[in-house]
Amino acid sequence: MNRTVLITGASRGIGRAIALAFAAEGDRVAINYHTNEAAARATAADCRALGAQAEIFRADVACREDVFAMVRTAEHTFGPVEVLVNNAGIAQQKLFTDITEADWRRMTGTHLDGTFYCCQAVLPAMIRAHSGRIINISSMWGQTGASCEVHYSAVKAGIQGLTMALAKEVGPSGILVNAIAPGVIDTEMNALLDAETRAALDDETPLCRAGRTEEIASAAVFLAGPGSSFITGQILGVNGGFIT
Ligand code: NAP
Repeated sequence: MNRTVLITGASRGIGRAIALAFAAEGDRVAINYHTNEAAARATAADCRALGAQAEIFRADVACREDVFAMVRTAEHTFGPVEVLVNNAGIAQQKLFTDITEADWRRMTGTHLDGTFYCCQAVLPAMIRAHSGRIINISSMWGQTGASCEVHYSAVKAGIQGLTMALAKEVGPSGILVNAIAPGVIDTEMNALLDAETRAALDDETPLCRAGRTEEIASAAVFLAGPGSSFITGQILGVNGGFIT
């Protein structure tokens, strides 16, 4: 569709699948990564193989300077960001009483500060254009809470609050803001889980399996596309029925 799409955390996992899905739509894809340059380069090469323009942009989304520099460079390369997907994330399993101040700051920095900075960096151009889409990747744990992931659940719930409030504020400027709340998706993030836990999660999912990254990507493409033009401030569960 010839839009400039910035996807954070697109070196691998869900972000990579989202980058490929927008590339397949004919968009220009700005691929953010943090540490894994080789994987980001591979994502860009695979996007180009689909005929799309794609470049990689390093930034720690938890760092305001990094984010604003990334958006400036991406806009210089491709033009104003028309679709932002806030996907970069980390996970950690710990008893609540063992969560350190540093764990808490890292979790809130990556998810909440990151989403805040990225939205602030792209919004001036979107407001000038009176158009734009922001898609935030939350989690079903932000809706229902996960034991031993209290900090993760808290930031994912925070992203949902940010989504609903920002949608109200920028709706009059023609900008749509939605979130996707994935269930368990097969990525490296879940490599931390043991086989027994994975099997139990599959059992608890009415569709009896983990989701695929492409199943989140297709929801993101929908929320950025013409078919969702009257949808804003919503949290779209893509979770195989785990949460209803
Ligand atoms: P993943 O495979 O672990 O990939 C995480 C991505 O985020 C990587 O590209 C990584 O970049 C990037 N990243 C991490 N910290 C960053 C930072 N500070 N700045 C910029 N990029 C950073 O994770 P995933 O499973 O695809 O998860 C993607 C999103 O979906 C996350 O927000 C996650 O919370 C959410 N989610 C996942 C699941 C699931 O079951 N997998 C379920 C619900 C929600 P580098 O590789 O360059 O370091």
